[in-house]
Amino acid sequence: MKAVRFHEYGDASVLRYEDVPEPVIGVGEALVRVRAAAVNHVDIDMRDGSSRLPISLPHTLGFEVAGDVAALGEGASDAHVGQRVAPQYQIHCRQCPRCIEGEHSLCQHTQMLGVQLPGGYAEYVKVPAWTLLPIPDDVSYADAAAVQTTLGTAWHALIRRANLRAGETVLVSAAGSGVGTAAIQIALRAGARVIASAGSAEKLELAMRLGASAAVNYREQDLTAVVREFTHGKGVDVVFEHVGGKVFEASLKTLRPNGRMVVAGGHGGEVVPLDLIVLFRNQWSVIGCQRQTEAELRQIFDLVSSGELRPTIHTVLPLSEAAQAHRILERREQFGKVILTP
Ligand SMILES: [Zn+2]
Repeated sequence: MKAVRFHEYGDASVLRYEDVPEPVIGVGEALVRVRAAAVNHVDIDMRDGSSRLPISLPHTLGFEVAGDVAALGEGASDAHVGQRVAPQYQIHCRQCPRCIEGEHSLCQHTQMLGVQLPGGYAEYVKVPAWTLLPIPDDVSYADAAAVQTTLGTAWHALIRRANLRAGETVLVSAAGSGVGTAAIQIALRAGARVIASAGSAEKLELAMRLGASAAVNYREQDLTAVVREFTHGKGVDVVFEHVGGKVFEASLKTLRPNGRMVVAGGHGGEVVPLDLIVLFRNQWSVIGCQRQTEAELRQIFDLVSSGELRPTIHTVLPLSEAAQAHRILERREQFGKVILTP
């Protein structure tokens, strides 16, 4: 089969479209014919060697996948051949204390598709059959591949972790990204008001089109000052932050006293200064968000099926153009997800 792999770390040119052996499935496993695979920023970190995730070379990226079940191993009764499916990319152990408590996102032995296991930048991928979620008939493969890190993460962050309530105001960082556009939709659906922050006029315009009430260009404007002005000096109730670095620092200062910041990423700077005096005097909460649960994902697929939520797709490219897909993300040109189709 064809797959895109890299044999050494480097820029996008290290991605090779090449022939590799088709995966061989074992007991309880499913072979999925990949119809769509999403490109994520962490793919770039793994490719250039800056990620802390454990991978071995040559490596096949791609943790968000949608496709059809092509074959099932012995005892794999969770799906049927030909079924449209999206594997959950986090493959938790189902045995550790966290898994037994139902806190799968905190599993101590979790493995990820496209990290420890060969991923979806390929014609076929092998996964445990229990990880397969059925894709509703009216949800496309591209949309199904774009759900987990965007709507899944934003849902878990805003609804479960930050407990967002109707009438609150949310600042969404990097509002033009896949997870940013998802956060805007989820916040609006929860009855909150959204202030979008992004680094270009085009991204902010699109965020406004999604329903944001205000937009701030963090490259050109003083984020803290603009948000304070928009909220009449009060500050926002919740910040959805997934950039890190200077954006984290500036966004934290937009919180009102008792405000909550939920953090789901930090590509722009993973270690940040934090003034503890300001933190405790304002009673701010800084909340971590790992990833969604299976129950949340099923709920999100239903909401995508009913049209209440929609993943934002920037473009769909053939798998052979994976390097081009990476360059789009590296130049931050995308509004929503970049999808590869084998
Ligand atoms: Zn576990």
